[in-house]
Amino acid sequence: MNIQESKAIITISNTASHSCPFLCDEHIGGPDYFNRGVNHLISAHSCTLLHVGGDTTVGLDDKPWQGTVAVLGSPIPLPDPPLSHFPVTPAPTKAAG
Ligand SMILES: [Zn+2]
Repeated sequence: MNIQESKAIITISNTASHSCPFLCDEHIGGPDYFNRGVNHLISAHSCTLLHVGGDTTVGLDDKPWQGTVAVLGSPIPLPDPPLSHFPVTPAPTKAAG
């Protein structure tokens, strides 16, 4: 499967963890579940690894964090997640002044 045949694109990072987008109970991404998440998407959901590369995000300390992302293509569209599937985290704010 190549990127044109993918029905959905999934990006996971070693700097942020999420629940599996196929709504199973697997944790993917983050420092502890990056490799496991990639393997899970390939073996359990027949995804294809399209790209692995570097990523820079703003960390909790407001400094650049270097990370690794994996981009996978899904052979089927992703299910619509219930709102409770995503944890609610407040957006980072800068102190006024
Ligand atoms: Zn899954």
